[in-house]
Amino acid sequence: MSDCIFCKIINGDFGTEFVYENEYAVVFKDINPKADTHLLVVPRLHVESLNELDDEELLGKLMMTVKAVTKKLGLNSYRTVINTGKEAGQEVFHLHIHILKGNIKL
Ligand code: 5GP
Ligand code: ZN
Repeated sequence: MSDCIFCKIINGDFGTEFVYENEYAVVFKDINPKADTHLLVVPRLHVESLNELDDEELLGKLMMTVKAVTKKLGLNSYRTVINTGKEAGQEVFHLHIHILKGNIKL
């Protein structure tokens, strides 16, 4: 999706540093952190939200990516959040999983 900010980030348009990446997803720091550690796990595939994702394998891979990046960073206690839809607070309509730890304000 050419007008999607996360697709642009995945494409490297802004030079965003990935703290972790694999075949399925990239992980980068949230630009407006709502916790001491606030990361976003973002599938390389453009999917608007969880409502549009029917690929069980990809969903599993995304959760395994959460485990891999938290293990890499030594986080063994953290919160995961997926906002689905405007009323739930979703602002970027490219599926992503928030990972939060420490002084969480979300
Ligand atoms: P949502 O509310 O859609 O679940 O979360 C979107 C998140 O993306 C927000 O926490 C927001 O701060 C973050 N965000 C929006 N634009 C950018 C950006 O250009 N770069 C990064 N790193 N994060 C962004
Ligand atoms: Zn996208």
